[in-house]
Amino acid sequence: MKLKLVQKNNPEGLVSKTGSLIPPSAIREFFDIVYSTPDCISLGVGEPDFTTPWRISDSGIFAIKDGNTHYTPNRGIPELRDLIARYVSENYTVAYDPDRELIVTMGVSQGLDLALRSIINPGDEVILFEPCFVSYSANVSILHGNPVIIPTFFKEKFKIDISRLKQSITEKTKAIILNYPTNPTGATIDKDTLEKIADLALQNNLIVVSDEIYSAFTYDESHFSIASIPEMKCRTIYLNGFSKSHAMTGWRLGWVAGPDFLVDIMLKIHQYTALCASSIAQYAAVEAIRKGGKDVLQMKSEYLKRRNFITSRFNEIGLSCLVPQGAFYVFPDISRSGLSSRDFALQLLKKEKVAVVPGTAFGNAGENHIRCSYATSMDNIRESTARIERFVKSL
Ligand code: PMP
Repeated sequence: MKLKLVQKNNPEGLVSKTGSLIPPSAIREFFDIVYSTPDCISLGVGEPDFTTPWRISDSGIFAIKDGNTHYTPNRGIPELRDLIARYVSENYTVAYDPDRELIVTMGVSQGLDLALRSIINPGDEVILFEPCFVSYSANVSILHGNPVIIPTFFKEKFKIDISRLKQSITEKTKAIILNYPTNPTGATIDKDTLEKIADLALQNNLIVVSDEIYSAFTYDESHFSIASIPEMKCRTIYLNGFSKSHAMTGWRLGWVAGPDFLVDIMLKIHQYTALCASSIAQYAAVEAIRKGGKDVLQMKSEYLKRRNFITSRFNEIGLSCLVPQGAFYVFPDISRSGLSSRDFALQLLKKEKVAVVPGTAFGNAGENHIRCSYATSMDNIRESTARIERFVKSL
């Protein structure tokens, strides 16, 4: 009680400046409103609607029964590291040494934190492209780095403009964060653009942090990783995980890979802050890589059907929508409604009980857009797009 009183009177003296200045995630803020709206259909969630394939869950359960409930090596169990290295090499043609260049993490979220902690000194600039995943800017700021934001635009299919990137590089630039396929736009990136980014990284001695968590859901072309450009492996931190590909968000499992001089630093931080990822999740992930390939393909083909349907529905409704090449989000342009993305989302929720995320939750460049996840059933997509159509007509 006494402590509460003191905090109330002197909050600034007790909490860290960074902690108090960091804004709460706009997605979470919005979802507090969603949770208090009964009977709402949500296109807001950023995770698969599928439950973890049974064979994977069963391996987790078996790990518990078998007594695999202890700390594991800090880097992760050797069997899983070997399998991850093989998986990355076979699918994305980058060869990592599982004993020196890879750490199993508590999701890409922890991998991102380790990556940024291993490179950022106060005042360093880190370039990111908005609209983007909510954590990038916040994580850079927590480490007293400065996020440098380059907008991407609907009319340019949310592609990176190399001249804008070039102009944003300064003496203080330390790294560039990439995320392909992108949350929230579903955009992908071509090899030619990645080669141009690689040239700039080499010329300016920059690190690239590449979040490829949606790479298993790339639809019309195959995924290409910047880490597979030979000169880039030694300056790329590659992040991936099981949350999206294998519908394992709750297991909290991913990995970070990169050159050993960076992985050595990340490992020290990981040892002190986390020790290791969950042993149970690691054993489940062994099964995910060994036998889960078919499940991933099944989910991908379901997402693809939903993508085609939802994209054409938005265009029919008159809200222009690009065909996303990856991930499980559409990001239609709602400017025709005359509403801001926040007002559109709030009024849609109130009038039609459909939850979408305002584009501005992903940065200012997301204005005039809403993010809709198609990681939900076809029935939900049909009903929610009918409601969105009614809402737009009513404006
Ligand atoms: N990166 C991106 C682009 C994401 O969309 C998400 C989750 N929404 C994450 C990272 C976090 O993933 P994880 O569950 O592996 O921490």
